[in-house]
Amino acid sequence: MNIIFMGPPGAGKGTQAERIVSEFKIPHISTGDAFRAAMKQGTAMGVKAKEYVDQGLLVPDDITIGIVKERLQEADCASGFLLDGFPRTLEQAAALDDILTGMERKLDHVINLRVDRDLLLARLTGRRICKSCGATYHVIFNPPHREHLCDKCSGELYQRSDDTEEKVGTRLDEYINKTAPLLAYYEQKHLLREVNGEQEIDAVTSEINSVLRGQA
Ligand code: ADP
Ligand code: AMP
Repeated sequence: MNIIFMGPPGAGKGTQAERIVSEFKIPHISTGDAFRAAMKQGTAMGVKAKEYVDQGLLVPDDITIGIVKERLQEADCASGFLLDGFPRTLEQAAALDDILTGMERKLDHVINLRVDRDLLLARLTGRRICKSCGATYHVIFNPPHREHLCDKCSGELYQRSDDTEEKVGTRLDEYINKTAPLLAYYEQKHLLREVNGEQEIDAVTSEINSVLRGQA
């Protein structure tokens, strides 16, 4: 199963991806996670990406496409993949089509998580992430059992530096200007399915599951 999760920052892509990949046993490919890992390690690519990520801007297409192209060729993607946060521009979408054609693969589902802008702001500013395993929480909507500690691995929780009110504004504008046009692109290919991302986390998961299993 080859899947893309689309939707604005804070729509719940990462939260839902964690659940769906464990059920379908496919790798979770998040370009945002890849950039944060490279930034932490201080690689040349990480240093370059940081200039953009820190400002809430999209990283240039050539860097981003290169990462995904390499990742999709790894052995664990043979059974499928879940792309989270890629593609985010029409150029990235066209490049992904070319990569998949070259691999004799195709997309099965593009799921768009729909969430209103005001709710996105509340979700992003309250998001907390585990330093050790990357699990995602929310101070109000999905709090950990012990404050500041991950339920799964007891790792320390942190707030992403781009989850501030100021950066969130820029990130949402980038989404509207550069990423939202992709919805029409996938609609035209009859791949796009809308899911109401404003429901409770479990309800969103079950709606996504129904789409993926062809029951909706
Ligand atoms: P994305 O990967 O799309 O940027 P996340 O999955 O990281 O979004 O979710 C953003 C924040 O919203 C996180 O703090 C997460 O815990 C919370 N969240 C995700 N889905 C829901 C939901 N259905 N209801 C309430 N809060 C949610
Ligand atoms: P995310 O974790 O998906 O919210 O992404 C965090 C940041 O990484 C974004 O604000 C961008 O700066 C960068 N990024 C992630 N995915 C992409 C992409 N597909 N294209 C360009 N930049 C990206």
